[in-house]
Amino acid sequence: MELLYDGKSKRMFEIEDPFVLTVEYKDEVTAADGRKREEMPGKGRLINIITSEMFEKLEKMGIPSHFIERTGDTTQLVRKVEIIPIEVVVRNLAAGNITKRLGFKKGREFAPPLLEIYLKDDALGDPLINRAHAIQMDLATDKEISELKKRAHQLNVALIDIMEEMGLQLVDFKVEFGRDTRGNILLADEISPDTCRIWDPKTGENFDKDVFREGTGSVVDTYKKFYEKMEATK
Ligand code: ADP
Ligand code: UDP
Repeated sequence: MELLYDGKSKRMFEIEDPFVLTVEYKDEVTAADGRKREEMPGKGRLINIITSEMFEKLEKMGIPSHFIERTGDTTQLVRKVEIIPIEVVVRNLAAGNITKRLGFKKGREFAPPLLEIYLKDDALGDPLINRAHAIQMDLATDKEISELKKRAHQLNVALIDIMEEMGLQLVDFKVEFGRDTRGNILLADEISPDTCRIWDPKTGENFDKDVFREGTGSVVDTYKKFYEKMEATK
C-alpha cells in the first residue's frame, strides 16, 4: 500500500484498485487546528468502528457515502473521491465556535438548523466563508454548493434520528463531500464523536471530543460509552 496522505487523525493509502482507498484511523486526538494533540491508545479502533456503523446506518436510510467496508480494527475501505475543500457545519444547538464568535448562549436552539461553510485550510485556520467566497476561490460551483447544503440538511435529519434512538441529542457536526470520477457528489471523510457534538438531553453530559477540548474527561471512555449506546440500539 502506498501512503497517499498522512492526516491529523487518519492515514489514506492507495491500493491496487485506483478507485478505492484504505483508511487507517490513528490513536491521535487533536483540537485547535492540531495545536493540542495527544496519543490515546484504542481511540482509532473506536472511531473506525463507530464511523463504519454510522455510514452503514445512513446507507440503510437512503444516504449513500464513500464507505465500502470495515477491513480491520483500525482500517476501512472507501471510494476515492476528489475532496471539495469545504467543511460543511450544521448546528441544531449553539455550542463551540459560534458561542464565542457571535455570542449565542450555549444550548440555544437553531430552528431551522443553521448551516455554515468553512474553507478547509489548516494554514488559514479553516475560516468561515460564504457562497460567493467559495465560487471566487473555485472550490465548488454554485450548483454544487446548493447540492452540498441540501445533502447536509438531509444528513442532519437522519443523524438526529440515529442519535435520538440512542437517547442522545445531536448538537452540531462537520462533514466533507467529494466528487467521484463522474463528478457526482459523495459524502466522504467520517461521522463520529470526533466530528459531531452529542449531548445527553437529560444530564447535559458530552459524548464527543469536547471532553478533550475542555479537558473534562477521558476521550476513550467517552467514545466507548457512545459505542455501547450504539450497540444497545442494534
Ligand atoms: P486532516 O486532513 O484534517 O488532517 P484527516 O486526518 O481526517 O484530516 O485526514 C484524512 C484526509 O482524507 C482528509 O483531508 C479528508 O478530506 C480526506 N478524505 C476523506 N475521505 C476521502 C476520500 N473518500 N477520498 C479522498 N480523500 C478523502
Ligand atoms: N468540527 C470538526 N472539524 C473541524 C471543525 C469543527 O469536526 O475542523 C466539528 C466539531 O466537532 C463540531 C462542529 O464541527 O461538532 C462545529 O464545530 P465548531 O465550529 O463549533 O468549532 P470548534 O469550536 O469545535 O473548533
